[in-house]
Amino acid sequence: MEHFDTLIIGGGPAGLMAAIRASSLGQKVAITEKNHSLGNKLLLSGKGRCNFTNAESDMDIFISHYGENGKFLYSAFSKFGPLRTREYFSHIGVKFIEERGKRIFPKEGGSQRVLDALLMQCRKNGVKIMRSNPVKALKVKNSHIDFIITENDEYSADKYIIATGGKSYPKTGSTGDGYDFARQAGHTVTDLYPALVPVRTRETWPKLASGCDLRNVRVTVIADGKNVAERFGEMEFTNFGVSGPIIMDISRFIPDWQKCDELQFSLDMKPTLTPEILTARIKRDIAKHSGHGRFAGLVRSLVPAKMVTLFLELSDVPHDKPTDYMSDEEIADTVTLLKDIRMNINGLWGFGNAMVTRGGVNLDEVNPSTMKSKLCDNLYFAGEVLDLAGPSGGFNLQVCWSTGYVAGSIIE
Ligand SMILES: Cc1cc2nc3c(=O)[nH]c(=O)nc-3n(C[C@H](O)[C@H](O)[C@H](O)COP(=O)(O)OP(=O)(O)OC[C@H]3O[C@@H](n4cnc5c(N)ncnc54)[C@H](O)[C@@H]3O)c2cc1C
Repeated sequence: MEHFDTLIIGGGPAGLMAAIRASSLGQKVAITEKNHSLGNKLLLSGKGRCNFTNAESDMDIFISHYGENGKFLYSAFSKFGPLRTREYFSHIGVKFIEERGKRIFPKEGGSQRVLDALLMQCRKNGVKIMRSNPVKALKVKNSHIDFIITENDEYSADKYIIATGGKSYPKTGSTGDGYDFARQAGHTVTDLYPALVPVRTRETWPKLASGCDLRNVRVTVIADGKNVAERFGEMEFTNFGVSGPIIMDISRFIPDWQKCDELQFSLDMKPTLTPEILTARIKRDIAKHSGHGRFAGLVRSLVPAKMVTLFLELSDVPHDKPTDYMSDEEIADTVTLLKDIRMNINGLWGFGNAMVTRGGVNLDEVNPSTMKSKLCDNLYFAGEVLDLAGPSGGFNLQVCWSTGYVAGSIIE
């Protein structure tokens, strides 16, 4: 049976970073990967452009993006945080640029450039990469992994790192196997939910505006009449509900509120305008087109073209009503619709469409400064398999770089 100093299960960003770190310390390292190619999900990231970290420089703000569990990351970030990540990638030939929202992307070459750079480091350091070699089970005895069984063989190591990712986008190879391995080693896994995922609504009318991108809108989540979250930015309607950056971000928290009797989105299409200002604007518009204005024409001046059909459907005012004859009540209803379109949340799309998994290996059972299991003496974790999920913006890959680096380090 071949023996390694460090054996890494899973060749995604976390596994690759762990391998580079361990091999740079002189260890004999292997990655065993289920697929023939490594980093399949990394290649999809940022629509192929790979938003690999975020330039937010305030560590507390950075960490607040991960919610309650974020505090687990302080130690790993102090060793290999966002700044060091940028320096490291620059050092291995991935120059970067900063875009809106402090998102960091490779200047050229996108995800493929990032993956190539990581694979090059593995090659340089002599990491053995075993492709098409899925791990089937861990052989654990007395809180110690004796060896692992893969489809092709059995291997042993002084140290094992589980870096199998979550269970979102399973077609990339991340099918949640790591959770079973963690359980085999005595760990608990918190409830798993798809996150950064489109949301289904009970209403079917969003399909009337499917593909319509709305910019600079505000979405509020209302749970049993109470506002529980609010986001400002871009969203879109889909055939089954809503999606886009602010919806995907909010989706991470929806499981927390799903026990409510009534869970709704309120969409404000004109968040910077008060109802009074909007009313005055509509009245000005009506006066301007006096004698020939119709309600449909007024709507066209208020919402994006792809949204007009939906807006007319939701309004009680007849499409061809002359605007001169609109009552104050009809004007008020139009303003209300612009400021508060209600949708009932009917659940999340599944793991197949989710960018990340919320939930994972219970962080109470992992040492945050080493990523070492507290329950199994030669087991470590890195990446999305841990119970850490951030918003979009480079936060999820940062978890992989930081926890991968720390897991691959040697404890003195
Ligand atoms: C469409 C999309 C876009 C994204 N864009 C971004 C972005 O721009 N920025 C960002 O920060 N995050 C982004 N993410 C999230 C980010 O890609 C993930 O958080 C990250 O890939 C997780 O890395 P990981 O190494 O933990 O796991 P993964 O990337 O999931 O890699 C795990 C690896 O383990 C292998 N594996 C699984 N089971 C076994 C087994 N039994 N034996 C051997 N190998 C196994 C898998 O085949 C896979 O190669 C995106 C995700 C998606 C789906």
